[in-house]
Amino acid sequence: MASGSYRNGGPKLSAKLDRQHSAVYSTPKASAKSRPPATPAAASSLRRSGSGNPASTPASNKVPGRVRVAVRLRPRNAEELVADADFADCVELLPELKRLKLRKNNWDSETYEFDEVLTEFASQKRVYEVVAKPVVESVLEGYNGTVMAYGQTGTGKTFTLGRLGEEDNAARGIMVRAMEDILADTSPDTDSISVSYLQLYMETIQDLLVPGNDNIAIVEDPKTGDVSLPGATIVEIRDQRNFVELLRRGEAHRFAANTKLNTESSRSHAILMVHVKRSIKGRHDAEPSLPRENGNASPLLSSLRPPIVRKSKLVVVDLAGSERIDKSGSEGHSLEEAKSINLSLSALGKCINSLAENSPHVPFRDSKLTRLLRDSFGGTARTSLVVTIGPSPRHRGETASTVMFGQRAMKVENMVKLKEEFDYKSLCRRLDIEIDKLIAANERQLKDFEDEVERIRADAQSRIAEAEINYMNSLENERSKYQTDYLESIKKLEEKWRMNHQSSNNDKTRVAHEQCLEKTCNIEGSTASNSEEITRVGQLLLNEKLLRESTEEVNDLKSQVLHWKNLEASASAEIIKLRKMLDNEANQKQKLEEEIRILKGQLLQLSVEADKTRRSLESGGSGKSLTGLDSIMSQARHSQLRDSGNGPKASIAKLFEQVGLQKILSLLESEDADVRIHAVKVVANLAAEEANQEKIVEAGGLTSLLMLLRISEDETIRRVAAGAIANLAMNETNQELIMAQSGISLLSMTAADAEDPQTLRMVAGAVANLCGNDRLQTRLRGEGGIKALLGMVRCGHPDVLAQVARGIANFAKCESRASTQGNKVGKSLLIEDGALPWIVKSANSEAAPIRRHVELALCHLAQHEVNANDMISEGALWELVRISQDCSREDIRTLAHRTLTSSPTFQSELRRLCIEC
Ligand code: ADP
Ligand code: MG
Repeated sequence: MASGSYRNGGPKLSAKLDRQHSAVYSTPKASAKSRPPATPAAASSLRRSGSGNPASTPASNKVPGRVRVAVRLRPRNAEELVADADFADCVELLPELKRLKLRKNNWDSETYEFDEVLTEFASQKRVYEVVAKPVVESVLEGYNGTVMAYGQTGTGKTFTLGRLGEEDNAARGIMVRAMEDILADTSPDTDSISVSYLQLYMETIQDLLVPGNDNIAIVEDPKTGDVSLPGATIVEIRDQRNFVELLRRGEAHRFAANTKLNTESSRSHAILMVHVKRSIKGRHDAEPSLPRENGNASPLLSSLRPPIVRKSKLVVVDLAGSERIDKSGSEGHSLEEAKSINLSLSALGKCINSLAENSPHVPFRDSKLTRLLRDSFGGTARTSLVVTIGPSPRHRGETASTVMFGQRAMKVENMVKLKEEFDYKSLCRRLDIEIDKLIAANERQLKDFEDEVERIRADAQSRIAEAEINYMNSLENERSKYQTDYLESIKKLEEKWRMNHQSSNNDKTRVAHEQCLEKTCNIEGSTASNSEEITRVGQLLLNEKLLRESTEEVNDLKSQVLHWKNLEASASAEIIKLRKMLDNEANQKQKLEEEIRILKGQLLQLSVEADKTRRSLESGGSGKSLTGLDSIMSQARHSQLRDSGNGPKASIAKLFEQVGLQKILSLLESEDADVRIHAVKVVANLAAEEANQEKIVEAGGLTSLLMLLRISEDETIRRVAAGAIANLAMNETNQELIMAQSGISLLSMTAADAEDPQTLRMVAGAVANLCGNDRLQTRLRGEGGIKALLGMVRCGHPDVLAQVARGIANFAKCESRASTQGNKVGKSLLIEDGALPWIVKSANSEAAPIRRHVELALCHLAQHEVNANDMISEGALWELVRISQDCSREDIRTLAHRTLTSSPTFQSELRRLCIEC
């Protein structure tokens, strides 16, 4: 190719094609298309076109966004200034045209175009602004983002990403500047920022914040495909100083880890993950409405609409030196290390090639690095790559391969997607607080109301009593006063009459004694009538006075009655008001109870669906011979992976998120037997998922399940609980927890009582898993585990027998290992507990899984001379001979043969029998 022509994304493209390509990448329209919506309104209109649940945004909500690639040239270093003094740089940059010329020789070069071309003079600030800032802005708007550096060791990857800039502020790298922007745009009241810092070396993920944590597993959400590292330390960031300190700590641990492993940072990948969680406020009006009842939105429901959170993630990756791809093995690396470095980096190269070529299959699963970066290439993140190169012509080959890597990465299209979801947890918390508040307010009001009624009643009674006493007193006073007045006036009248009578007598004696005599009768008559008149008038006066007093008294009493009536009316108005408030509270309480009932209903319905699915899975596989519990589990898991995510499993996972594990577990203790059955089915379904098992155990689920085995009378509950325990018992830590909580006695008890083969199969499966743990052998046997297994063969069902055989094989294997290591002496505990007759009898079973486990168990037992005599007397020797000749599995056949020939006891018995024959 002539000098001056240039390539973009592949060798020998025509200049015309190249121009089209570059035009697409550089037009403002194209760049606007690839940017996520900048305003919240635009973002929400995108989301509104979805199903209404932000967590299940459909593919149509994704916005195309190509991986952006910048190339950065490092200035010549001191060594190059001397060594390459007479040579020109191997590259020439044309930043204004965004092109890079790679010299082939003095007269020929090839040209490549990038999204940005950063010369050796580009400042750290400018590099941050063109490479990382758009990604950081996207992350703040709720999209995932990745910034990654790729290039040969010594070309400036760590310089670009990881410099802390403590000695020189202008030297701050992308990590530090990104956090500054994130902290400036967020508020600790509504948002939270947390980080993990990790190193990937030899396909092992180490925690740079807690170095002892050195084998972190990657977990993939089977529904969404999202990748997470639940084992990694996550530290909440409050300020920049705190973050820089953390980076420094991580670097120190990286240095220490690398020294310990006798490596250097250029051989490992460093990964910084920044989790940004933001609450979106004031968005309810724009949100799709929640379900309505009878077409009317419930005011309670709308006031309790779940808040929305955006959970996005910024991943910054400082890759291992790219030269390792070609040179590994040639610089004294161990073979394993060379393979691992090759594995991750070359897997990344392959994935990018497949994506660039739109291949139907992208080999993400080939390495841990590609599994971690799944969202960054061809996923939903906004991704920016900086490829770093050096100027030296001596490294032209490396530089060319770095440039080509960048060119291919530019062809990768991502579909950026808003990471928004309803915050059900906080809604739940809010609902709980709301209910508690309402109940407390209700109780307070009821109490106030009762106190008020009581107070008014007591007040009224005391006032009435007081008024009665007052009335009686005043009546008595009046009466005694009238009596005294009356007696007084009578006395006065009598006095008057006596005086009148005396003076008239004196006059008549002096004037005419005779006339006096004659008229005596008349005078006496007139005096008598006078006195009568006076008495009558006195009486009238008295009556008049009494009447007047009584009227006044009546009026007074009337006004008192009126006053009391008013008081009573206002008290009853108060009572009516309080009653109304009480009714309102009762209505609200009823509505909340209705909400809770609906949630419970959904839970029950989902558990029924899950139940159906499991039954259909089980009946679908019943035609084939089952290979035990493991195969059922893996069938369920596979069918779940094939699910499009809309099946009941997906609903259960959704329910798990919405309702919360704690609530589901609390339903295991419900008083309603139906609720208990459905809840245990949901827990069993969740326990079938490896990803959920740790959470279930942490939340006390294992203890609850064991409790159900202990107390439940219901066979279905015990069957499902035993199944869930069998699943949890696949993990070593859980096996120890089960033993510590007397699980083996509970399983033995259930094994002794149960009739249903399915229950026995679950119990046998759980015990079989425990049998495979070296540390639990003695305790398991001591607490009756082996006897319980052997007891279950009474059932005769092939699935149960297969689990029993698996348990015995597991136990025999661990025991054999302990004997070999010298940790166990004496006869096998299986033989002690009388398992041998059943083992010999089942060695010819027609069911392949039973036969295979039993054959293995026999081989393990036969490896130790202490068992030989028992095996001979129980007829196991003949079975071993048969296995060594016609077992369908070659490894077992060989093992049996080797065991027979190496045991002196078996050899002499065989010789004896030959002689006898
Ligand atoms: P890498 O991480 O790719 O192995 P480093 O970032 O450690 O490379 O850089 C190697 C050396 O080059 C360091 O001493 C660093 O300071 C220097 N260096 C890298 N890039 C630049 C640059 N753009 N300007 C000045 N010095 C640089
Ligand atoms: Mg480095």
